[in-house]
Amino acid sequence: MIVMKFGGSSVESAAAIERVASIVRARAELRPVVVVSAMGKTTNRLLAIAAAAIRGSRPEYLMQLHDLRDYHSREARQIVTLDQRAELDRALDEHFQELTELVKGLAVLGELTPRSIDAISSYGERLSSYIVALGFRHFGMETAHVDARRMIITDDRHTQAAPLYSETYAKLREAIPPLAAERVVVMGGFIAATAHGVTTTLGRGGSDFTASIVGAGIGAKEIQIWTDVDGMLTADPTILPGGHRVKAISFAEAAELAYFGAKVLHPATVVPAMERNIPVLILNSRRPQVAGTRIVAEAVACSNPVKSIACKRRIALVNIHSTRMLMAHGFLKRIFEVFDRHKTSVDMVATSEVSVSLTIDNLERLDGICEELRAFSEVAIEENQAIVCLVGDNLRFTPGVASRVFRAVEPVNVRMISQGASLLNLSFVVAEADLKRAVEALHEEFFSELDPRVFETNGVAA
Ligand code: ASP
Ligand code: MG
Repeated sequence: MIVMKFGGSSVESAAAIERVASIVRARAELRPVVVVSAMGKTTNRLLAIAAAAIRGSRPEYLMQLHDLRDYHSREARQIVTLDQRAELDRALDEHFQELTELVKGLAVLGELTPRSIDAISSYGERLSSYIVALGFRHFGMETAHVDARRMIITDDRHTQAAPLYSETYAKLREAIPPLAAERVVVMGGFIAATAHGVTTTLGRGGSDFTASIVGAGIGAKEIQIWTDVDGMLTADPTILPGGHRVKAISFAEAAELAYFGAKVLHPATVVPAMERNIPVLILNSRRPQVAGTRIVAEAVACSNPVKSIACKRRIALVNIHSTRMLMAHGFLKRIFEVFDRHKTSVDMVATSEVSVSLTIDNLERLDGICEELRAFSEVAIEENQAIVCLVGDNLRFTPGVASRVFRAVEPVNVRMISQGASLLNLSFVVAEADLKRAVEALHEEFFSELDPRVFETNGVAA
């Protein structure tokens, strides 16, 4: 068995679902279990509908519901046989009637709880998985549609629920292998339920997580994450187009990249698969011939010290200085308590005896944070900063990397440096205005020569 996960853009239209069907059909003998996201931007649209309901904008939410039904119906009708149309219409009616009731109920209450957010956003994956299963049948595959809420059991932290692994794995192990032996199993990502059957979700982008949980639960040979890029690249394509594809990367490196903004993979995805030593592949559903990126448990031998350069934009650098704290203890504690009270997480930290520099990416509570910090220190904020993060297992074994890095970015003013927190990365902060220049220089320095075992230049769209 393998798990194949297709994201929202891979199932956004009839044509996209047809492409997915041919990808799956070509791998039928591997006994695929298919996990799908909601079609296109459906999750956002459902959340907008909930918000409109709370505002009491009845014409608005009714219109949006109507449009969303139209969208699903229009795309789905193109990929079902004539005699499936009645079944499709009936299912769409059922789902949208229920959803409309729910939305109207919310409008009456005027209050949106995490539990009702989950109830509403679950419709995206419920619809997409049903439609994809019907479509697969139309394209000649025997399919079994499984309601993910009967398999993935979580706690009740709505909108961000955590799986209860032993229950979930037991259910998956019992139900999926016999089904997959004869048919292509299709289920929705992202959605789950509590032990009492109340619908929950795993958090935005959670379908990758579902794929990994399912893969671990059934002991899949491989987990394939099909998306709309060729895999992980040596540089963020929105900053530097024309990076090279990274063919293989370790779990630890991939997680590091994900934390630092690589959009390709949800960081939590990695955990269940890693624990069971199941390789994860990132593949492009628009270019299935490209071999993608293989994420494996063990380190990947490579003569380049850096595997990829990740970036995180729109961060603020907070410089905190207090001479009063010289030789006193408790300074760091007091600082971090302030950030904790404002529920703002700190990404990078550098300290000296009397000052601390740190970065945050959530600037919502910045004013309140500064006010509290100013009670015992001087604070200077620099917004419009970016973190550049070089990732590679080999960084720790390669002498002289830091000097190569800082020589390469010499014309750029480096604001803060962190190495050592993780042995796999070297991160520093520059002004956003300098980001492109810095990444270009680093890419030139570290990827002019490529280890062909790990990198592939051909086939990457520049
Ligand atoms: N549909 C959900 C979202 O948009 C989950 C996912 O696509 O992974 O966040
Ligand atoms: Mg995603």
